[in-house]
Amino acid sequence: MWGEIVGHKREISILTKVLEKGELASTYLFSGIDGIGKRKVAVTFAAASICSKDNRPCGTCPDCSKIIKGVHPDLVEVEAEGEGEIKIDDVREIQSRIKYAPISGKRFVIINDAHRMTTSAANAALKILEEPPIKNHFILITSMPSNILPTILSRCQKISFSPLTEQEISGYIVSKFDIPEDVARHVAMLAEGSIGRAISLNHESLKTLINEILDVTRSNDTTRLLVAAERWSKDGDHERLPFLIYLLHRFIHNALLFKLGFKDRWGGTFDEVSAILEARNDKDSLIRKAKVLNDMHWQITKTYNKQLMLEELLFTLLG
Ligand SMILES: [Zn+2]
Repeated sequence: MWGEIVGHKREISILTKVLEKGELASTYLFSGIDGIGKRKVAVTFAAASICSKDNRPCGTCPDCSKIIKGVHPDLVEVEAEGEGEIKIDDVREIQSRIKYAPISGKRFVIINDAHRMTTSAANAALKILEEPPIKNHFILITSMPSNILPTILSRCQKISFSPLTEQEISGYIVSKFDIPEDVARHVAMLAEGSIGRAISLNHESLKTLINEILDVTRSNDTTRLLVAAERWSKDGDHERLPFLIYLLHRFIHNALLFKLGFKDRWGGTFDEVSAILEARNDKDSLIRKAKVLNDMHWQITKTYNKQLMLEELLFTLLG
C-alpha cells in the first residue's frame, strides 16, 4: 500500500518511524496543496497501524481489505458535502462513533478539508481533541492550515506535504493513462505539483494542442498561424488558452536553456518545438519573447479580443 503512493518519501518515512517506535500522536495535521495524496497517506497510515501482519499494511488481510473498501469500523472519515462546510452534526457523529472502544485496538478519525469546519464544528472538535479517548487517533487534512483554529493547531503533530515533482507526476500519468511520455511531461508541468490536477486536465485536448503548435512552428507559415489563432480563440474549452500560453512559455524557456548550453529539467533531450525556436532566435530575442509570454499570461483572462491577442502572441513567438 505504501508502494502505491506517488512521491512523499520524506513524509512516509516520518510516519513509518512513528509506527516502528509505537509512538503515535493523538492528533496529526497533514497540510499541503490539494490533490497530492494527503488522504491516501492518511488511510495507508491508519491501515499500517491497524494491520497485524509483519509487512504492514499488507493490503490483503481482512483489516486492510475493509480499510481499502472504506468499510472498516475503526476508520471514521468526515468530509464536507460538495463545496459546503463541515457542520456540528458531522462532529457529533464522530463523538458517537468514538464512544466505544475500537474493535481492532486502534481507531483513526480522518477529517478531510478540516479548514471547512464551521466555528461551532471546530469548537466541538477542539473539545474532543483536548481530551481524546485513548486508542483514538485523529488526522486533520487541509490545504489551508491558517484557516484552522490556533487552539486546534497547537494540539497537532504537523506534517507538511511537499508538492509532487514533475517527474513523479509524469511517471504516474504514463503508468495510468494511454498518453505518450512527452505529453505526460507537459501535463506534469501544468499540474504544478498536484496529481489531482494532472488527472483532471484534458489529456486529449493537450495532446492535440501540442501537435498543432508543433505544426505551426515547423511550417513557420503566416497563413497557418492566423488560422490556428482564429481556431484557438474560438475554442470553447476554457482551460485551453491558459494551457496554450503556458506551453508556449515553456517552449521558449526551454529554447533559452538550450541556447545557454543547459540541459532541460528532465536532463534529456529538448522537445522539437524548443529546438526549432532555439535555432531561429538569438538569446536576446528569446529573453524578450519569454517576457511577452509572461505578461500575456496575466492578461489573457481580461482580454476581450482573444483572437487578436493570439495572433500577436504567435507572431511574436515565430517572427
Ligand atoms: Zn493487512
